[in-house]
Amino acid sequence: MKNAAQLKLSSTRHEREVVCLCDLSARVGSDPLLVQASNGNTSIKIDGILWIKASGKWLAHAMQEQILVPLELAEVKESVQCDMEIASRSAPKNELRPSIETAMHAVLRHRVVIHVHSVNAIAWAIRLDGPDQLNERLTGLRWQWIPYAASGIPLAREIEKAVAAAPETDVLILANHGLVVCGRDCHTAEKLLWEVERRLAITPRRFPKPDTTVLATIARFSKWRFPDVHLLHALGTDAISRKILRGGVLYPCQVMFLGQTMPLLPPAVAVSKFAERLIANDGTPPFVVLERSGVILNEKMTGAERATLIGLAQVTLRTEEFARLRYLKRAEVTDVLNKGAYSYKKVAVLEQQANAHVKVDNRNACVS
Ligand SMILES: [Zn+2]
Repeated sequence: MKNAAQLKLSSTRHEREVVCLCDLSARVGSDPLLVQASNGNTSIKIDGILWIKASGKWLAHAMQEQILVPLELAEVKESVQCDMEIASRSAPKNELRPSIETAMHAVLRHRVVIHVHSVNAIAWAIRLDGPDQLNERLTGLRWQWIPYAASGIPLAREIEKAVAAAPETDVLILANHGLVVCGRDCHTAEKLLWEVERRLAITPRRFPKPDTTVLATIARFSKWRFPDVHLLHALGTDAISRKILRGGVLYPCQVMFLGQTMPLLPPAVAVSKFAERLIANDGTPPFVVLERSGVILNEKMTGAERATLIGLAQVTLRTEEFARLRYLKRAEVTDVLNKGAYSYKKVAVLEQQANAHVKVDNRNACVS
């Protein structure tokens, strides 16, 4: 890995393209329908160097702080061939580590790669009939459906296999994960991203209003507060969303930030038993869904958990009641939790350090 401080940008063009990617990253990263917290990543390949988003960094902050790591592309490709995870390489203290999804960016031949956790794309990517549903919507585009694989080398392998037969592919729908678009430059890739988003767009379902009387009673308990994002209540008041969430884990970020099971309290639980039930439920969760009433947040909830929860509500409100869904298998969930243990802790630490930024992003995440 090259040290960013030592790396000299070889030309003005090189520098300009990196700035262009940062600009694109900040724009894309500030859209909560595309990116939630530190997920999503972007990259550009210039003169044998792969500039890739660092693990735990937020795309939204790309114009305020260094979020890209420069790597020798040939070395990364060699690591992928040898089944060596790039992100797990040791890096000196305080040095940025490349994203766990670096391998995927390296195997794609396009210069610019944008990977987002678009809520519209995910709403299709969790459906068993997703490939059929998308045939018409994405007609004319060079797209492929990539079966679920864990981030890192397994996902890179799946993509390599898919693009080997069709190297012109520049749109990938990652099952139970998200969207990848590619282009020869930032402008082309971003234009394609918006085109794909336009085609994948789903109008979210309307949902019943929260029961503010019940929620206000619970908000009187210390540590719990009423959410400032109305949309979150859909997780409790929308029967279809509750049914979907009872089915299991839909995608890796859900389990990594929100846990394996939804803290869902049935209406029969009296308000007076709220605290007791939570203690019995394996510690205090960052939020609680009250069936038919709405959602209540723990004051310790992090910005990343909050952004992920909003993203989840956006996905379930875009998922039809009778759509047959593919949930992550038990082994896949365990794999995510094992791999994510390090990065999750790191994100939490980074978030504390970047508290000012978190506030800005929370505001951006307030969509309904
Ligand atoms: Zn991802």
